[in-house]
Amino acid sequence: MLSALLIMNLSTTVLADGDSLSRIAEYTIQVNEDVDITGSLTTTFTNLDTFIDTVRENYPKIADYDIARFLMQYTQQDCEGLPEDVVLSILEYDNITVSTSYVRIDADGNSYALNDNCLPIDDYTSNDGYIKFTTTYSNTKTVGKQKYYNVFGSATWLKYPAMRLRDCFVVGTNGTFDDSVSEKGNVIQSFKCIRCGAITYKTRTVTKSKRVDNDLNLKYDSGVPELHFDALSTQKCSSCDGFTEDYSFTLFISYGVIASEAKNIQASYGHQTVGFKNDISVSISGDGTASLSASVGTLIETYTARPVTMKY
Ligand SMILES: [Zn+2]
Repeated sequence: MLSALLIMNLSTTVLADGDSLSRIAEYTIQVNEDVDITGSLTTTFTNLDTFIDTVRENYPKIADYDIARFLMQYTQQDCEGLPEDVVLSILEYDNITVSTSYVRIDADGNSYALNDNCLPIDDYTSNDGYIKFTTTYSNTKTVGKQKYYNVFGSATWLKYPAMRLRDCFVVGTNGTFDDSVSEKGNVIQSFKCIRCGAITYKTRTVTKSKRVDNDLNLKYDSGVPELHFDALSTQKCSSCDGFTEDYSFTLFISYGVIASEAKNIQASYGHQTVGFKNDISVSISGDGTASLSASVGTLIETYTARPVTMKY
């Protein structure tokens, strides 16, 4: 049922005035595709500020949220279920670089990351999970030799494995964590009612100043923000109290990085398969890869996105 979300995302790219926004985007936003040194396919969108200014001049009554939703979709980012302030934050950037990877785990527990969704979810019969990662960064300012970036990671389960314990999502980096930027994290699970079709959202949000929201914890043991959370089982429908099934499961994290040369960012997701609901331990290696581990008696699978090298 998680695949239903993807289909819905594609069909909602046409907004009420989506055609006019698309035309403005075509002549204002510059799009460059690139393969970085790690082999990751990246797409860089620049002149977003020109696009936003032009839209506001031509459509003074348009809501910021509608511009932001269009830009999220135009820049290949899922925004379904994201809190409004997170969607709106895209309006603050004049450039964004995005890389998408599709990651699955094979029978031996090895993680495979691909640039394309070459394995349609309907053909995916394994009991193991399947995640779409979107890794994004924006260069926000340059001071002397220091470049400042905002980095974003999202993980969307295309297929969630059967076991639901305590999971972890992190975007590793070998750049320097910039604690002057307000980091944020969200866990968004939604469930579709089998009886009435209504969607029930269970959204948990943490920030630098509010580090706990129910089961979600924001921790910094590895030196960068980490999300630790329970994978909730299906909930009762909030409209009719009926039974529900999984509809979507997305994680989102953003924070600041400072670098004085090209540095990497890389998303990793730790999923517990056996054991107790303990937090997964995170450490970051010299190339920015997060390595995830669990205490004795707890087994985890690690889904790792392709690394992305931030252009310096
Ligand atoms: Zn219902």
